[in-house]
Amino acid sequence: MSYSIAIDGPAGAGKSTIAKKIAKKKGFIYVDTGAMYRAMALYLIRKGIKPSESEKISKACKDADITISYENDEQIVWLNGENVNPYLRTEEVGNMASASSVNKDVRIKLVELQQKLAATNQVVMDGRDIGTCVLPDADVKVYLTASSKVRAKRRYDELTAKGEACDIDAIEKDIIERDERDMTREMSPLKQAEDATLVDSSDMDIEQVVEAILGLCK
Ligand code: C5P
Repeated sequence: MSYSIAIDGPAGAGKSTIAKKIAKKKGFIYVDTGAMYRAMALYLIRKGIKPSESEKISKACKDADITISYENDEQIVWLNGENVNPYLRTEEVGNMASASSVNKDVRIKLVELQQKLAATNQVVMDGRDIGTCVLPDADVKVYLTASSKVRAKRRYDELTAKGEACDIDAIEKDIIERDERDMTREMSPLKQAEDATLVDSSDMDIEQVVEAILGLCK
């Protein structure tokens, strides 16, 4: 197994920002597993499938070929040969990803892809079940969190910076709902691995979090 760093935590905790910076400093690849669940969600939305239609999801997910590649250190997600990066970071896709990620067939397919990447590359991988399920033997495991208010504000700033109109209270409500679903689902729920270090970033800036995690890698 190559060296791996697993970062798990709830929506909007800053996992991807932090993981990208750590990957750059260590010269590892950054694997954003949420983007894979989002690509699967996009496929299902385009097929007109609803979050509640679990049989249809199980069947349809087999036809979604999801792969990733890297360009200038950026992860590109390919869905049946199309670069879908521009469509992944909307609230609609995020909510569908949270709903469809409870599906066993979706998880089996994407976890296999994630484990293959970690077997042949040094990775910083972020998600919900990396330390508990995808890479149980990761060299460093972090559970990164922050209060729901702080996380909603960060997501609000991210969306408004892109020119998307949004409402901060609605975002916080969505975040709380999504956490609840991620933490209570039957298969690989979001939880802190026993051997993970808890980092609460509510009162920390990005550089402080990066330094804290790099300190764990020594
Ligand atoms: O992290 P991000 O918001 O992009 O993830 C979207 C959704 O994908 C999460 O709410 C979660 O339900 C699901 N997910 C997951 N397991 C992962 C990564 C993401 O279930 N490893």
